[in-house]
Amino acid sequence: MEKQSPPPFQWDDWYAAAGGRTISIDEVNALLKKIYEDQYLRFDGEVAPVKRTFSSPAEAAKVIKEKAIEFGSDMVGICEIEPSDVYRGKTVTEKFAIAVGQNMRWREFQVVPSRESAIECVRVYYSLGESVIKLAAWIRSLGYPCRIEHPIGDSDLLHIPIGLKAGFGELGRHGSIIHPKHGPLFRMGSVVTSIPMQTDHPVDAGIAAFCDKCKACRIYCPAKAIPDHRSPEAGKDHLGNDRYLVDTGKCFPYFAKHNYCSICLPVCVYNHKEWARDFEGFKTKLFPEIIMHDPPGPVDLPEEKRHKYPKLSR
Ligand code: SF4
Ligand code: SF4
Repeated sequence: MEKQSPPPFQWDDWYAAAGGRTISIDEVNALLKKIYEDQYLRFDGEVAPVKRTFSSPAEAAKVIKEKAIEFGSDMVGICEIEPSDVYRGKTVTEKFAIAVGQNMRWREFQVVPSRESAIECVRVYYSLGESVIKLAAWIRSLGYPCRIEHPIGDSDLLHIPIGLKAGFGELGRHGSIIHPKHGPLFRMGSVVTSIPMQTDHPVDAGIAAFCDKCKACRIYCPAKAIPDHRSPEAGKDHLGNDRYLVDTGKCFPYFAKHNYCSICLPVCVYNHKEWARDFEGFKTKLFPEIIMHDPPGPVDLPEEKRHKYPKLSR
Protein backbone atom coordinates (compact mmCIF):
# COMPACT_ATOMS: atom_id res chain seq x y z
CA MET A 1 0.00 0.00 0.00
CA GLU A 2 1.36 3.40 -0.92
CA LYS A 3 2.35 5.47 2.07
CA GLN A 4 0.33 8.66 2.52
CA SER A 5 1.93 11.98 3.31
CA PRO A 6 0.20 14.69 5.34
CA PRO A 7 -0.80 18.17 4.18
CA PRO A 8 1.72 20.98 4.87
CA PHE A 9 1.55 22.33 8.41
CA GLN A 10 -1.14 25.01 8.46
CA TRP A 11 0.55 27.46 10.81
CA ASP A 12 -1.83 30.36 10.29
CA ASP A 13 -4.91 28.18 10.66
CA TRP A 14 -3.55 26.61 13.83
CA TYR A 15 -2.70 29.97 15.38
CA ALA A 16 -6.08 31.40 14.38
CA ALA A 17 -7.89 28.40 15.88
CA ALA A 18 -5.82 28.68 19.07
CA GLY A 19 -6.72 32.35 19.55
CA GLY A 20 -3.87 34.00 17.66
CA ARG A 21 -0.13 34.38 18.16
CA THR A 22 0.32 35.30 21.79
CA ILE A 23 4.08 34.81 22.09
CA SER A 24 5.69 38.20 21.70
CA ILE A 25 9.35 38.34 22.64
CA ASP A 26 11.54 41.00 21.02
CA GLU A 27 14.45 38.61 20.37
CA VAL A 28 12.11 36.01 18.82
CA ASN A 29 10.46 38.62 16.62
CA ALA A 30 13.85 39.92 15.47
CA LEU A 31 15.04 36.39 14.61
CA LEU A 32 11.83 35.59 12.71
CA LYS A 33 12.19 38.83 10.78
CA LYS A 34 15.78 37.90 9.84
CA ILE A 35 14.67 34.42 8.72
CA TYR A 36 11.78 35.62 6.55
CA GLU A 37 13.27 38.86 5.26
CA ASP A 38 16.94 37.97 4.90
CA GLN A 39 17.46 34.21 4.81
CA TYR A 40 14.57 33.44 2.46
CA LEU A 41 16.10 35.82 -0.11
CA ARG A 42 19.34 33.80 -0.01
CA PHE A 43 17.81 30.40 -0.75
CA ASP A 44 18.68 30.46 -4.46
CA GLY A 45 21.89 31.10 -6.36
CA GLU A 46 23.83 30.51 -9.55
CA VAL A 47 25.10 27.00 -10.26
CA ALA A 48 28.74 26.98 -11.41
CA PRO A 49 29.04 25.96 -15.09
CA VAL A 50 31.75 23.34 -14.49
CA LYS A 51 31.00 20.28 -12.35
CA ARG A 52 33.45 18.88 -9.82
CA THR A 53 33.53 15.12 -10.18
CA PHE A 54 33.63 12.68 -7.29
CA SER A 55 35.38 9.31 -7.53
CA SER A 56 32.37 7.51 -5.99
CA PRO A 57 29.06 8.17 -4.17
CA ALA A 58 30.93 7.36 -0.95
CA GLU A 59 33.49 10.10 -1.62
CA ALA A 60 30.72 12.59 -2.46
CA ALA A 61 28.92 11.78 0.80
CA LYS A 62 32.13 12.09 2.85
CA VAL A 63 33.15 15.44 1.37
CA ILE A 64 29.65 16.91 1.66
CA LYS A 65 29.21 15.74 5.24
CA GLU A 66 32.54 17.26 6.25
CA LYS A 67 31.43 20.59 4.79
CA ALA A 68 28.07 20.43 6.60
CA ILE A 69 29.90 20.08 9.90
CA GLU A 70 32.32 22.87 8.96
CA PHE A 71 29.30 25.10 8.25
CA GLY A 72 27.94 24.64 11.77
CA SER A 73 25.83 21.46 11.82
CA ASP A 74 26.26 19.13 14.78
CA MET A 75 24.98 16.08 12.90
CA VAL A 76 24.54 15.14 9.25
CA GLY A 77 23.16 12.15 7.36
CA ILE A 78 21.99 11.37 3.84
CA CYS A 79 18.89 9.54 2.64
CA GLU A 80 16.91 8.96 -0.50
CA ILE A 81 13.67 10.93 -0.73
CA GLU A 82 10.45 8.90 -1.07
CA PRO A 83 7.03 10.30 -2.03
CA SER A 84 5.81 9.82 1.56
CA ASP A 85 8.53 12.25 2.76
CA VAL A 86 6.93 15.09 0.77
CA TYR A 87 3.95 17.09 2.04
CA ARG A 88 0.76 16.48 0.13
CA GLY A 89 0.44 18.90 -2.78
CA LYS A 90 4.18 19.73 -2.84
CA THR A 91 6.72 18.48 -5.35
CA VAL A 92 10.33 17.50 -4.76
CA THR A 93 12.24 16.33 -7.83
CA GLU A 94 15.64 15.91 -6.20
CA LYS A 95 16.71 12.38 -5.29
CA PHE A 96 18.55 12.85 -1.98
CA ALA A 97 18.26 14.85 1.21
CA ILE A 98 21.36 15.90 3.13
CA ALA A 99 19.81 16.13 6.58
CA VAL A 100 21.50 18.35 9.15
CA GLY A 101 20.83 19.02 12.80
CA GLN A 102 22.02 21.55 15.35
CA ASN A 103 21.89 21.24 19.13
CA MET A 104 19.87 23.61 21.23
CA ARG A 105 21.70 24.71 24.39
CA TRP A 106 20.63 22.87 27.49
CA ARG A 107 21.40 25.92 29.60
CA GLU A 108 18.48 27.75 27.97
CA PHE A 109 16.05 24.98 29.00
CA GLN A 110 16.72 25.13 32.74
CA VAL A 111 13.21 26.51 33.17
CA VAL A 112 10.48 25.46 30.72
CA PRO A 113 8.49 27.00 29.26
CA SER A 114 10.41 30.25 29.48
CA ARG A 115 11.46 33.28 27.52
CA GLU A 116 14.95 31.77 27.29
CA SER A 117 13.74 28.43 25.89
CA ALA A 118 11.54 30.19 23.32
CA ILE A 119 14.44 32.36 22.12
CA GLU A 120 16.72 29.31 21.93
CA CYS A 121 14.25 27.41 19.70
CA VAL A 122 14.16 30.26 17.19
CA ARG A 123 17.89 31.06 17.54
CA VAL A 124 18.67 27.54 16.31
CA TYR A 125 16.16 27.83 13.47
CA TYR A 126 18.11 30.89 12.38
CA SER A 127 21.55 29.49 13.03
CA LEU A 128 20.85 26.15 11.31
CA GLY A 129 19.25 28.16 8.52
CA GLU A 130 22.61 29.87 7.99
CA SER A 131 24.27 26.47 7.93
CA VAL A 132 21.98 25.08 5.18
CA ILE A 133 22.27 28.29 3.14
CA LYS A 134 26.09 28.02 3.24
CA LEU A 135 26.01 24.32 2.36
CA ALA A 136 23.66 24.94 -0.58
CA ALA A 137 25.85 27.79 -1.89
CA TRP A 138 28.92 25.57 -1.66
CA ILE A 139 27.17 22.69 -3.52
CA ARG A 140 26.17 25.11 -6.29
CA SER A 141 29.79 26.28 -6.51
CA LEU A 142 30.68 22.64 -7.37
CA GLY A 143 28.33 22.79 -10.35
CA TYR A 144 25.31 20.98 -8.88
CA PRO A 145 21.80 22.37 -8.37
CA CYS A 146 20.23 21.97 -4.95
CA ARG A 147 17.47 23.44 -2.78
CA ILE A 148 17.03 24.35 0.85
CA GLU A 149 14.48 22.88 3.25
CA HIS A 150 14.63 25.42 6.08
CA PRO A 151 14.34 24.13 9.65
CA ILE A 152 11.57 26.55 10.61
CA GLY A 153 8.90 24.73 8.60
CA ASP A 154 7.03 25.91 5.51
CA SER A 155 9.16 23.26 3.79
CA ASP A 156 8.29 20.65 1.17
CA LEU A 157 9.86 17.78 3.09
CA LEU A 158 8.91 16.30 6.44
CA HIS A 159 11.98 16.64 8.62
CA ILE A 160 11.19 13.73 10.97
CA PRO A 161 11.02 10.83 8.48
CA ILE A 162 14.04 12.27 6.67
CA GLY A 163 16.01 12.48 9.93
CA LEU A 164 15.08 8.90 10.86
CA LYS A 165 16.16 7.53 7.51
CA ALA A 166 19.37 9.58 7.66
CA GLY A 167 20.30 7.83 10.90
CA PHE A 168 19.71 10.63 13.41
CA GLY A 169 18.13 8.34 15.98
CA GLU A 170 14.78 6.89 16.96
CA LEU A 171 11.29 8.29 17.27
CA GLY A 172 10.53 8.99 20.93
CA ARG A 173 7.19 8.77 22.67
CA HIS A 174 7.11 12.59 22.54
CA GLY A 175 7.15 12.54 18.72
CA SER A 176 10.67 13.97 18.36
CA ILE A 177 13.78 12.11 17.27
CA ILE A 178 16.16 11.09 20.03
CA HIS A 179 19.77 10.94 18.88
CA PRO A 180 21.86 8.33 20.75
CA LYS A 181 24.56 10.90 21.53
CA HIS A 182 22.88 14.28 21.26
CA GLY A 183 19.52 13.45 22.87
CA PRO A 184 16.29 15.09 21.65
CA LEU A 185 17.15 18.79 22.01
CA PHE A 186 18.07 19.62 18.43
CA ARG A 187 16.49 21.04 15.29
CA MET A 188 16.69 19.72 11.74
CA GLY A 189 16.80 21.04 8.20
CA SER A 190 18.12 19.74 4.90
CA VAL A 191 19.56 20.47 1.48
CA VAL A 192 18.13 18.41 -1.38
CA THR A 193 20.11 17.50 -4.48
CA SER A 194 20.53 14.69 -7.01
CA ILE A 195 24.31 14.29 -6.65
CA PRO A 196 24.86 10.51 -6.38
CA MET A 197 25.77 10.00 -2.71
CA GLN A 198 26.07 7.03 -0.40
CA THR A 199 23.09 7.00 1.95
CA ASP A 200 22.86 6.33 5.68
CA HIS A 201 20.54 3.93 7.49
CA PRO A 202 18.03 4.16 10.32
CA VAL A 203 19.48 3.20 13.70
CA ASP A 204 18.26 0.85 16.40
CA ALA A 205 19.98 1.80 19.64
CA GLY A 206 17.22 0.50 21.92
CA ILE A 207 15.74 3.96 22.43
CA ALA A 208 12.24 3.22 21.13
CA ALA A 209 12.16 0.10 23.28
CA PHE A 210 13.16 2.18 26.31
CA CYS A 211 10.28 4.58 25.64
CA ASP A 212 7.87 1.70 26.27
CA LYS A 213 9.03 1.67 29.90
CA CYS A 214 9.76 5.37 30.50
CA LYS A 215 6.88 7.82 30.58
CA ALA A 216 8.61 10.97 31.78
CA CYS A 217 7.46 13.11 28.87
CA ARG A 218 3.88 11.88 29.17
CA ILE A 219 3.80 12.56 32.91
CA TYR A 220 5.15 16.11 32.53
CA CYS A 221 3.17 17.12 29.43
CA PRO A 222 0.81 19.79 30.77
CA ALA A 223 -1.64 19.37 27.88
CA LYS A 224 -1.85 15.58 28.22
CA ALA A 225 -0.98 15.35 24.54
CA ILE A 226 1.53 12.49 24.83
CA PRO A 227 -0.05 9.05 24.84
CA ASP A 228 0.17 6.15 27.21
CA HIS A 229 0.26 3.49 24.53
CA ARG A 230 1.36 3.00 20.97
CA SER A 231 -1.48 3.27 18.42
CA PRO A 232 -1.76 0.66 15.66
CA GLU A 233 -3.80 3.13 13.58
CA ALA A 234 -0.95 5.69 13.70
CA GLY A 235 1.33 3.69 11.40
CA LYS A 236 4.78 2.30 12.03
CA ASP A 237 8.06 3.91 12.98
CA HIS A 238 11.25 3.06 11.08
CA LEU A 239 11.77 -0.03 13.22
CA GLY A 240 8.31 -1.38 12.49
CA ASN A 241 6.82 -0.41 15.89
CA ASP A 242 3.34 1.08 16.07
CA ARG A 243 3.84 4.80 16.57
CA TYR A 244 2.95 6.88 19.60
CA LEU A 245 0.42 9.41 18.36
CA VAL A 246 0.96 12.82 19.96
CA ASP A 247 -2.30 14.78 20.00
CA THR A 248 -1.38 17.96 18.12
CA GLY A 249 -4.86 19.35 18.83
CA LYS A 250 -3.92 19.44 22.52
CA CYS A 251 -0.21 20.28 22.14
CA PHE A 252 -0.50 23.19 19.73
CA PRO A 253 -2.85 25.48 21.71
CA TYR A 254 -0.61 25.03 24.77
CA PHE A 255 2.58 25.51 22.80
CA ALA A 256 1.13 28.64 21.13
CA LYS A 257 0.28 30.26 24.47
CA HIS A 258 3.30 29.25 26.55
CA ASN A 259 6.56 30.09 24.80
CA TYR A 260 6.53 27.04 22.50
CA CYS A 261 6.26 24.87 25.64
CA SER A 262 9.08 22.35 24.84
CA ILE A 263 8.72 20.64 28.24
CA CYS A 264 8.81 17.17 26.67
CA LEU A 265 12.32 17.72 25.29
CA PRO A 266 14.36 18.70 28.36
CA VAL A 267 12.52 16.22 30.63
CA CYS A 268 13.39 13.36 28.27
CA VAL A 269 15.74 11.02 30.07
CA TYR A 270 17.86 10.80 26.95
CA ASN A 271 19.45 14.10 27.86
CA HIS A 272 22.74 12.55 28.86
CA LYS A 273 25.18 13.81 31.43
CA GLU A 274 27.16 15.07 28.51
CA TRP A 275 24.12 17.17 27.68
CA ALA A 276 23.85 18.43 31.21
CA ARG A 277 27.24 20.02 30.68
CA ASP A 278 25.72 21.65 27.64
CA PHE A 279 28.37 20.11 25.35
CA GLU A 280 30.32 23.28 26.12
CA GLY A 281 31.22 22.72 29.75
CA PHE A 282 28.54 24.93 31.33
CA LYS A 283 27.43 23.76 34.74
CA THR A 284 23.71 23.10 34.58
CA LYS A 285 20.96 21.21 36.36
CA LEU A 286 20.33 17.60 35.45
CA PHE A 287 16.58 18.18 35.40
CA PRO A 288 14.79 21.40 34.47
CA GLU A 289 12.36 23.43 36.53
CA ILE A 290 8.95 22.87 34.98
CA ILE A 291 6.15 25.41 35.03
CA MET A 292 2.76 23.81 34.48
CA HIS A 293 -0.19 25.95 33.46
CA ASP A 294 -3.78 24.79 33.03
CA PRO A 295 -4.16 23.64 29.43
CA PRO A 296 -6.49 25.52 27.10
CA GLY A 297 -9.20 23.48 25.40
CA PRO A 298 -8.16 21.30 22.47
CA VAL A 299 -8.28 22.72 18.96
CA ASP A 300 -8.89 20.49 15.99
CA LEU A 301 -8.53 21.63 12.41
CA PRO A 302 -10.65 19.93 9.76
CA GLU A 303 -9.36 16.44 8.95
CA GLU A 304 -7.85 17.49 5.61
CA LYS A 305 -5.70 20.15 7.32
CA ARG A 306 -4.49 18.10 10.27
CA HIS A 307 -0.84 17.27 10.47
CA LYS A 308 -0.05 13.62 10.98
CA TYR A 309 3.15 11.94 9.94
CA PRO A 310 2.87 9.11 7.44
CA LYS A 311 3.80 5.54 8.10
CA LEU A 312 7.55 5.30 8.38
CA SER A 313 8.03 1.59 7.89
CA ARG A 314 11.04 0.56 5.81
S1 SF4 B 1 5.40 20.68 23.60
FE1 SF4 B 1 4.42 20.72 25.65
S2 SF4 B 1 2.24 20.42 25.22
FE2 SF4 B 1 3.35 19.75 23.40
S3 SF4 B 1 3.69 17.56 23.67
FE3 SF4 B 1 5.53 18.60 24.45
S4 SF4 B 1 5.11 18.86 26.66
FE4 SF4 B 1 3.14 18.41 25.68
S1 SF4 C 1 10.95 10.96 28.24
FE1 SF4 C 1 11.13 8.73 28.22
S2 SF4 C 1 9.27 8.03 27.13
FE2 SF4 C 1 9.51 10.19 26.67
S3 SF4 C 1 10.64 10.22 24.74
FE3 SF4 C 1 12.16 10.42 26.41
S4 SF4 C 1 12.82 8.30 26.79
FE4 SF4 C 1 10.92 8.17 25.59
